Amino acid sequence: MHGLVQYEPLLLSRILQFAAENFGRVPVISWSPEGILRYDYAALEGRSRRLASALRKHGLGEGSVVGSLGGNDHRHVELFYAAPGIGAVLHTANARLAAEQIAYTVNVAGERMLFSDPASLPQIAEMRPHLTNLETVVVMAEGQPEPLPGIARVIGYEELIAEGDEAFEWPSFDERAASTLCFTSGTSGDPKGVLYSHRGTYLSAVSIAAPNYWGIGHDDTVLAMAPICHCNAWAAPYLAPMAGAGLVLPGRSFDGPSVHRMITEGGVTVATGVPTIWLGVLEHCRRTGQDLGRLNRVVAGGSAPPPELIRVMAQDFGVRTLQVWGMTETTHAATMRATGTDVESEAWKAAPQGRPTFGTRIRIVDDAGEPLPRDGATRGQLQVRGSWVATSYLGRDDVVLCDPDGWLNTGDVAALSEDGQLRIADRIKDVIKSGGEWISSIDLENAAISFPTVSEAAVVGVPHPRWMERPIMVVVPREGERLDENALRAFLQERVPKLWLPDAIVVVEELEYTSTGKVKKSVLRERYQALLSEEAAG
Ligand code: ADP
Repeated sequence: MHGLVQYEPLLLSRILQFAAENFGRVPVISWSPEGILRYDYAALEGRSRRLASALRKHGLGEGSVVGSLGGNDHRHVELFYAAPGIGAVLHTANARLAAEQIAYTVNVAGERMLFSDPASLPQIAEMRPHLTNLETVVVMAEGQPEPLPGIARVIGYEELIAEGDEAFEWPSFDERAASTLCFTSGTSGDPKGVLYSHRGTYLSAVSIAAPNYWGIGHDDTVLAMAPICHCNAWAAPYLAPMAGAGLVLPGRSFDGPSVHRMITEGGVTVATGVPTIWLGVLEHCRRTGQDLGRLNRVVAGGSAPPPELIRVMAQDFGVRTLQVWGMTETTHAATMRATGTDVESEAWKAAPQGRPTFGTRIRIVDDAGEPLPRDGATRGQLQVRGSWVATSYLGRDDVVLCDPDGWLNTGDVAALSEDGQLRIADRIKDVIKSGGEWISSIDLENAAISFPTVSEAAVVGVPHPRWMERPIMVVVPREGERLDENALRAFLQERVPKLWLPDAIVVVEELEYTSTGKVKKSVLRERYQALLSEEAAG
């Protein structure tokens, strides 16, 4: 027997419609290719609806897939609602992948229409020989675009919007319909497509907006800095309109000085971003002696934010860090923990990634898939489940993501505390096994980064003639500083078990990062694979 209540499908267009109806004058600031634009939710929703109607006129609708390559600016967010709003899927392609890889993702999705901001047009030219279906490119900028070799039709975004109907109304359809498509970054093998649904995305946004997580309200202004191609910009473009919070869109500017300006001039109270972005912002504040305006919390994830970063944010700027753990396959944040000056506490150290978001369950299992105890010490593979956790990859039935009971294998090694809080030790492929000992690269990196002259650190395991594998540490010194390796070694000795001390410390000018802000450890492993055997031999 069904309850006697109305049934409204949980569609993403309803989020923007709600903001336009109730928070229509709340500002949206966009760092677009033409400069900084200021408008509001009423205007954003109106343009998005017109775009939706124009897309319909071009034959798109339920079941079609539209691609996009661009930064987090207002046009991209309009499209982010417009395409799913008519039942089409928006594939936010990752502009930081190689052209051939992007073409692969566009082909897997079967796109005929691709939106691009001007900065990505050269990439489309490079992708062209590898593309199988693409017919139309829409350039997300003002004015009439130039033709593109090999592309049948090139349209200007504003021209397309002008074709749309102002009176168009958002349609209703099955809430389980696919909404957006994001690909994993493809560090091992081809990128894999995770196809989100309206229902899952809508519910997950409701879940993470709550007080235990982002705690977002209409006094907030959100800076949506996670790229739109990475887990739907970590849901920021849904959370802000849902709560009637202001929205600041950084375009493609992620450098310390620009982000600082967005935060202070935009009155930002909460911002997302991978730890490296925050390291850049702090470096800028240190150099210029500036503060962070109204900012009071940052949402940091993708890799573990170093405790030193959390401490400085809290102590010097009054900003709390909401650490999230999640993956493309979990839509975005699956666990979260807010931390400030309590970052040195034993409670935090025991479980820095916190509790699952409401609607998500986590557990750890052994190699045979048997659940392991929550005792804070036992480590196993982390598994996760919930209504917005992926079941499989688009077009890749050959890859098994979940166990027979429907738990998703995350590929992360973790421990759970008695009260169910998470501590990530490593990605399985990054685990260092030395003799019989497991060494956590994350713990070693966190220790190194609290050394005063270290800016960034990465630890990888490399082959060792006696121990099978030993850790080496690659460090970037702070700007203008010289790194004293012996002092660093002595510093580490006080903080980690003796067996964990790296066999070599390599000083470099910079580290290479993946398109989702993680250090490319595979590159380091390959570069330094012979380091310890050479040392042993020599
Ligand atoms: P990619 O495409 O780079 O794999 P994902 O966002 O899907 O991008 O990566 C997810 C992985 O990132 C997780 O499985 C985990 O290893 C790592 N990760 C995410 N958040 C955290 C965190 N807070 N602490 C440690 N690792 C994290």
